[in-house]
Amino acid sequence: MNEAATPQNRHTVVIIGAGTAGVSVAAALRRSLPRLDIAVVEPSREHYYQPAWTLVGGGQYALEKTRRDVAGLLPESVRLIAAEVVSFAPDDNEIILNDGSRLHYQFLVVAAGIQLNWAAIEGLPETLGKNGVSSNYRSDLAPYTWECIQNLKAGTAVFTQPDTPIKCAGAPQKALYLAADYLRRQGRKADLRFYTAAGAMFGVPFYSRALDQVMAGYEATPVFSHKLLAVDGAARTATFETGSGEEKRQEVVRFDFLHVVPPQSAPDFIRNSVLADAAGWLEVDKSSLQHTRHANIFGLGDCTSTPNSKTAAAVKSQVPVVVGNVLSALQGGGNVLEYDGYAACPLTTSAGKVLLAEFCYGGAVSPSLPLDPRVPRRLYWWLKKRLLPYFYWNVLIRGKTLKQTHKQRSFPDTLPSIQP
Ligand code: FAD
Repeated sequence: MNEAATPQNRHTVVIIGAGTAGVSVAAALRRSLPRLDIAVVEPSREHYYQPAWTLVGGGQYALEKTRRDVAGLLPESVRLIAAEVVSFAPDDNEIILNDGSRLHYQFLVVAAGIQLNWAAIEGLPETLGKNGVSSNYRSDLAPYTWECIQNLKAGTAVFTQPDTPIKCAGAPQKALYLAADYLRRQGRKADLRFYTAAGAMFGVPFYSRALDQVMAGYEATPVFSHKLLAVDGAARTATFETGSGEEKRQEVVRFDFLHVVPPQSAPDFIRNSVLADAAGWLEVDKSSLQHTRHANIFGLGDCTSTPNSKTAAAVKSQVPVVVGNVLSALQGGGNVLEYDGYAACPLTTSAGKVLLAEFCYGGAVSPSLPLDPRVPRRLYWWLKKRLLPYFYWNVLIRGKTLKQTHKQRSFPDTLPSIQP
């Protein structure tokens, strides 16, 4: 341990990040142990409810309703340190901040989210927010997505998905569906194309087949195994790479509107640290969420190695596990709770209906209600637009827990009728 450590720079629990996961864990720990000494390190003054950005980009939600001040979200007795973590010294139980100071912890919770690598696409940073190029993955750009969709009279609209893990893997196609629905209501016809580096519409085949039907219903074209390499905003062209080995080739596509989802990775300070796995993610056990080499470090949310879909819904299921296991460890006990890989993706198939994909590790279909989840429903639109934001601000990040209701269920192979 660093001998210079004073009570100001040592805490029983230090949490990195005041996003969905960090604030929720801080609040839940505070509820369980009101006198626990907790500090949260966060460089940003703002906290966003990111799941609503898709709705903002579809003209269905006000951006301002997605934003709050970080300071006002954390329980009063939790110390907020406005700094960025730059590296770890796990053998000393310390993290190093961007001003060079060190912070000592007894337990560390890493909840630093995912890094958006915009510059990995040549020409993209220069043209984002103009020339018909947008992304719902940046709050300030989501309103521009809606502006572009409204201005689209005909022509070609291209929506992309990268070849890396991303947060909310359904969000790239949700942008297409909301655009398609708007154009349909306006009686306009555009050439809608979904260029994805993946080989299917969704990682879970059960849902992917249903989403093929949604695409067909809009006469939209899925283009698989295509990775975006470069964007020329002024020329309105996007260059994709497809094929492998000798067959590898580039395709240049003209667009009138381009919605880009950038490649993503663990934040650099995790990727370049001793806590990372070979792919750069914080290496935690997929059930206990405890670091595989340092027993006093836990991780959750988008920055970890757990093979679940990176969503706020996953965070909801991970928070009680991390909190339960940290509380047990504080008393000298072992891990007491396990995460089952639950994630949910509310696919906004139109402005009015949602196909709610819920699943656990291994793609196990695990809906909360005993209804065929491949059917887009008005009930789930209400859940997405009204109930989930309420739940987020008043339950999850307030550290309250709701009973988990999802459960593995089986459904017939035959697809039900799917009307987006
Ligand atoms: P975040 O909430 O991103 O928080 C990470 C925090 O760590 C940030 O505050 C950041 O500033 C901080 N941080 C980063 N680096 C450092 C550092 N060096 N030091 C200190 N702090 C640091 N999820 C759903 O469940 N349903 C949806 O429908 C859905 N739709 C989405 C649509 C879009 C367009 C997007 C962008 C996301 C969507 N998500 C959805 C995903 C969801 O928002 C994330 O999975 C969730 O916010 C992850 O929480 P987190 O705490 O891991 O990361």
